[in-house]
This record gives sequence, structure tokens and C-alpha cells, in this order.
Amino acid sequence: MTISRDDWDELGFDTLAVRAGQVRTSEGEQSEPIFPTSSFTFESAAQAAARFGGSEPGNIYSRFTNPTVRTFEERMAALEGGASCVATSSGMAAILATCMGLLKGGDHIVSSRAIFGTTTVLFNNFMAKFGVEISFVDQTDYAAWEQAIRPNTRFLFLETPSNPLTEVADIPRLAKLAHANDTLLVVDNCFCTPALQQPLKLGADVVIHSATKYIDGQGRAMGGAVVGDAELVGNQVYSFLRSAGPTMSTFNAWIFLKGLETLKLRMRAHCDNAMQLATWLEQQPGVARVYYPGLSSHPQHELAKRQQSGFGGILSFELDGGQEQAWKVIDATRVMSITANLGDAKTTITHPATTTHGRLTPEQRQQAGISDGLVRISVGLEDIKDLKADLARGLG
Ligand SMILES: *Cc1c(COP(=O)(O)O)cnc(C)c1O
Repeated sequence: MTISRDDWDELGFDTLAVRAGQVRTSEGEQSEPIFPTSSFTFESAAQAAARFGGSEPGNIYSRFTNPTVRTFEERMAALEGGASCVATSSGMAAILATCMGLLKGGDHIVSSRAIFGTTTVLFNNFMAKFGVEISFVDQTDYAAWEQAIRPNTRFLFLETPSNPLTEVADIPRLAKLAHANDTLLVVDNCFCTPALQQPLKLGADVVIHSATKYIDGQGRAMGGAVVGDAELVGNQVYSFLRSAGPTMSTFNAWIFLKGLETLKLRMRAHCDNAMQLATWLEQQPGVARVYYPGLSSHPQHELAKRQQSGFGGILSFELDGGQEQAWKVIDATRVMSITANLGDAKTTITHPATTTHGRLTPEQRQQAGISDGLVRISVGLEDIKDLKADLARGLG
């Protein structure tokens, strides 16, 4: 037996993460199979016509649907609490598909300034080219969000907690604002994953993921997902995807399915390690400030406690000694990987000012709060004593 959608309401998150979406074939396999096939065959010409005409559901071509990808989509929909999920070839493809599915020329987006750098490029350089207007506001300035909304605003866009300063946005408050103005709230839930935060349940309309990060969790594959209701995601976003083609590969879908089975366990361990490292960093000489929503010194600590079930695996800290000190700490590590990726079992360490945010002007960096002494860590699953020792070498 496998579980069906009718069972979702009764089952807990951990059960859904392991089992939702699986459809066993006649072979009786225990683990989900990979279906490396570009097209599917039909019993008859009449059946082919019915599939193409839409009167009979079923597979036609893997740009539209693929059984392994479908299993991943079903499991993500179950975990986020949405009716529909569309899987994509990367997190950026998920954001692009959302834009192309929901926007038209002349529409307007209000976005937090504190979003993934490439998302800013997609909005400013490409959406703008097709006549979409964008306003950027500070993540936690609710008056600014309200003032930026226009009659042609189609959606509000944010990530929470933000990268790299872990600013937390009030999802229920922004959802209420969006709906009062007849617009949508789109949340990139990459940092928390559904294991720690379920934006649809907090009032958001669409959730976006880079599966490349925690959903894989081991730095192997690129992928993304969009989750929401049957009309916005199941129809509008999906229609773009099947025509434009940034679909998830069947092999990657299988990797992400295996990742989802251990997602909550891994997220708990990431949270534990990050909390311990953040607390320890706050006491180290030369560390001016630590940014982590789990610390009571974090400005949105109470909000994070309300809307997240854990504080996540990403933290940043600012060194008194500027770039020189930041590079010294990074270069003294032996365990951590110097790379800009995040959400991996392996801890990664990054200097945002010269990498992820290096293309910004010094003024833009200052406005975004990215100082030269800032270091970001995606805390992995190694022994916490080894991670502390790795940083202590450069701090001392
Ligand atoms: C990495 C990332 C993306 C983009 O995802 P890719 O899989 O790299 O395309 C989008 N949003 C956030 C918050 C990210 O960290």
C-alpha cells in the first residue's frame, strides 16, 4: 500500500517526508524508482488522442510530467501544505517560472532588498526588460512595504530569514497587507525549508525553493520548486514550465526525494550546531556582532520564535578588524569549505563583501548592511568542537 492525498491531513510531517507521493509499480520496490524516459507510450491511437486532448490524465512527455519528478512534487506539496507543486531545474528557474506564470508587462513587484543577489539581477535586468516594474524596500520596514504597493502590484516578494544578515520578516503581517491590497505574497523558503517554517500556513500564497540547498542537503544536485494552490501554481506556473522547459531531471528528483526523508533530522542538527556556534561567537574577542535569529540579541528573536520551529543553520558575524581580519579567519580554517554555497552537511564559510555581494557598489553594500568585516557561515553537521577550533585559530 502507498498513502494517498486523502491521508495527508491525518499524517504528521515526518511520515509525509518519508512517504508522501510514492506510487509503487507492479515490481513492489521499496525505494522510489527513477524513470529515465523522455516520452511515454500509449495503448492505442485513441488513448494518445485522449492524453493529448486532456480528457484522460497521464504521462505524455517528461517536459510535462515524469513519475519520479511527480513523486517529488507531491511530497513537497504535502510538506508545505499546498495543493500544487511544480519542480524546476534550479532555484532560479523556480523564481523565473513564478514570474513568467504570474506577471505580465505593466505589472509591479514589491520586493525586499535583502534577497538572493541573482534574484535581484533577474528582476532588474530581465523582468524590467519586459515592462515589469520593481520597488525594493527594507525587509522589516512595514510602512515602506505598504507605501510601495500600487494598483498594478501583482506580488510582494521576500526571503526570511534573509541572507546573510538573517533578518526575519513577519509573514502573517505581510500576507494580510498583500491581501488587503488584492496582491499576492511570494516567499522564498530556502533558508528554513518546510521543516522549520511553512509560509502557506502563515498566509503566503506561493512558496519557492532552491532544492539545491537543504533539500538535497549534501551539495550534489541543482533543483527548485514552486508550491501553492491549483490555479496559481498548478495552472499558471505549470503552463509556463511545460512550454518553456526548465524542468527537473528525473535523477535529481530522486536525490531530492532521498533528501526530504532526512530533512527534519538534518535541520534539527543544523539548528543545534548553529545555536552553539552563535552563542560561542558572541563571547569571542574581536567579534563585534553575531547575526542569528536564535540569539536573544537578535532584533526579531521573538518573531522568529513565533513563526519558525527552529532558527536555521545560517549565521553571520562582524569582525572589528574589517576585511583583513575576515580573510584571516577564513584562511585559517581547515575543516570548513571556502565556498558560497549553503545548506550542506559540510560547513561553508564566505566573505559576502567580496563574493556574493561583490558586484554591489560600496554604497549599496553599506545600505544592505554588508560590512567588510562580515563573515557568513552555513553551519554543517560536523562536531561542534571542531568548528569552534577551526574559527578560534583565525580569531586568536
Ligand atoms: C541559492 C538560492 C537561490 C537560487 O537557487 P539555485 O538552485 O542556485 O538556482 C534562490 N534563493 C535563495 C535564498 C538561495 O539561497
